[in-house]
Amino acid sequence: MNSYSAIPRRGLLAGIAGLGPLAAAAPMQAQAQAQAARPTVLGTTGMIGDLLRGVGGPAITVETLIGEGVDPHLFRPTRNDIARILRADALFYNGHRLEGRMHEVLERAASQGKPSLAVAEAIPRARLRQHEDYPDAADPHLWMDPALWAETLPAIAATLGRLPRLNRDLQAGAAETRARLHRLDAYAREVLAPIPAERRVLVTAHDAFAYFGLRYEFRVESIQGLSTEAEASLARIEAMVRLIVERQLPALFTESSVPDRAVRALVEGVAARGHQIRLGGTLFSDSMGRPGTYRGTYEGMMDHNITLISRALGGSAPERGLNGRL
Ligand SMILES: [Zn+2]
Repeated sequence: MNSYSAIPRRGLLAGIAGLGPLAAAAPMQAQAQAQAARPTVLGTTGMIGDLLRGVGGPAITVETLIGEGVDPHLFRPTRNDIARILRADALFYNGHRLEGRMHEVLERAASQGKPSLAVAEAIPRARLRQHEDYPDAADPHLWMDPALWAETLPAIAATLGRLPRLNRDLQAGAAETRARLHRLDAYAREVLAPIPAERRVLVTAHDAFAYFGLRYEFRVESIQGLSTEAEASLARIEAMVRLIVERQLPALFTESSVPDRAVRALVEGVAARGHQIRLGGTLFSDSMGRPGTYRGTYEGMMDHNITLISRALGGSAPERGLNGRL
């Protein structure tokens, strides 16, 4: 006999009846109040949203602005987007001009007193990559190195901690998220290690993979620069054709948020020199996959990239990746 059935039924029912309609209404009210009290936290990119969910857990409602396959360099906020930025209880953006066309809107909203953070700008500038395209900012694509991306967690936890009455152990959320990112980093090191030195060249559409290259020892060559705004030059494509032929590279990659015409021009240029290079697949560079899918999470996006690069260039990644979910 368990303890529930030991309660005298008549007494229990009489007790509930005695409380009248309030007894049923009270839990519903409490639930509605908890939802109303739960702050809405806006992250510009999906990668930032993923960190916010990890740190803030069920204590916050996370919204993101820039969707699947959308290029943040070119993203222009609609009036509705601007309203969401202004309405959010806390605001997180990448900074270092990743969100080039809404930079001013973000800075204005951030200066109005709500908890706000440009996550990439929380990392000391000396740790970030400088680039000639951006004299007044650093390379913004930090999420491509999971260990470096994890270093934004203390600043994220501290900023969320400025929200009043947040029922959440933010330090524990940050620690769990850090462990998840370090597991991803360990997987990348392991499955990319067997790629021979001469093949450690990553050819992509735009220059989003430099931190990935620094962490995992790849030379990174991209057709376009740090932002996708400028068109690739013919001279640049010629130089890359020579490099690919010289190294006899087996594969290059397209990106989900950048049109692939420049990459295809490169494949044709290489073929004209008698070397066959294949498209190694599509990498997620500046946005994640479809929401609700594994690739729509930061871990899934990076697992996809690491596994694809490893398998295309001669590494040891299993076909279905770190978690068997690809
Ligand atoms: Zn980019």
